[in-house]
Amino acid sequence: MDYITLNNGVKMPQLGYGVYQIPVEATKQCVLDAIKRGYRSIDTAQVYQNEAEVGEAIRECGVPREKLFVTSKIWISNSGYDKAKASIDRTLQRMELEYLDLMLYHQPFGDYYGAYRAMEEAYKEGKLRAIGISNFMVDRFIDFVNYVDVTPVMNQIEMHVFQQQKELREYMKKYNVYLTASEPLAQGKNGLFSNEVLVGIGEKYGKSSAQIALKFALQSDIIVIPKSVHKERMAENISLFDFALTEDEMKKIESLDLGVSQFMDKRSPEAVELFMKMKNQEV
Ligand code: NDP
Repeated sequence: MDYITLNNGVKMPQLGYGVYQIPVEATKQCVLDAIKRGYRSIDTAQVYQNEAEVGEAIRECGVPREKLFVTSKIWISNSGYDKAKASIDRTLQRMELEYLDLMLYHQPFGDYYGAYRAMEEAYKEGKLRAIGISNFMVDRFIDFVNYVDVTPVMNQIEMHVFQQQKELREYMKKYNVYLTASEPLAQGKNGLFSNEVLVGIGEKYGKSSAQIALKFALQSDIIVIPKSVHKERMAENISLFDFALTEDEMKKIESLDLGVSQFMDKRSPEAVELFMKMKNQEV
């Protein structure tokens, strides 16, 4: 496993395990299975409704807490200082953990400046070892980092071979903020698992297209958190540290970039209205 150093000095595994859309009743076992296969970083969120089950697995897995890296995210219904502050404590209680390694503000909606102030406070109190943001596109990202006291360590956002976020990455590098790729396999969209370029490169190394897609992100200095409920895929997705892509192969994969979301344009009025329907969701 490779580790990266965030801009506040905290070390984080470059590859982790995401639990979005894992049914609540399956989450604890999936996280235990992932940890058994070598994952040391787990990514959940208030809105995934499975923080408690992740916490249980963390406490019961047998790996010391300090060897694990736990991330959660504050949902937009907890935007604003007071609600965000209470929700950080609720997450810690729910997970039965004394601290989180990383807390992100999930979507750039609502009073995220107020929420971030509560996150900065919890960071200074030691409840959160690092804080960051998620789904901030380049315009909001630049604005945000210039108006907060504690620079976020990370922006977690859709990134995969078909949406490489080239412009955003340029600015994130400038501000020394890491990118974590959400949906690093594009959830298989656009034929990722059978893509000719990825399959072709994979044949040379005895690796799958999923492994080549993940390796491309790792070699681009990006953190990845693939999700799978299948043990063999969990093992496959972490078996990335025994080969390296050549410069030419990296270039070929770069050319797969379509530069647009494979899910939804979160700046579109339809998408924003969809999020507004969730602004009172209790999490
Ligand atoms: P991924 O890109 O990780 O893709 C997951 C899908 O691919 C699942 O359907 C899984 O199926 C399948 N899969 C996984 N590995 C393989 C493989 N080796 N071969 C074939 N199929 C495979 O999508 P996610 O949306 O889950 O993103 C990963 C994580 O990123 C999330 O779990 C979450 O933690 C985070 N995220 C954050 C967001 C944000 O707004 N900040 C948004 C979305 C995700 P199966 O499980 O059946 O194996």
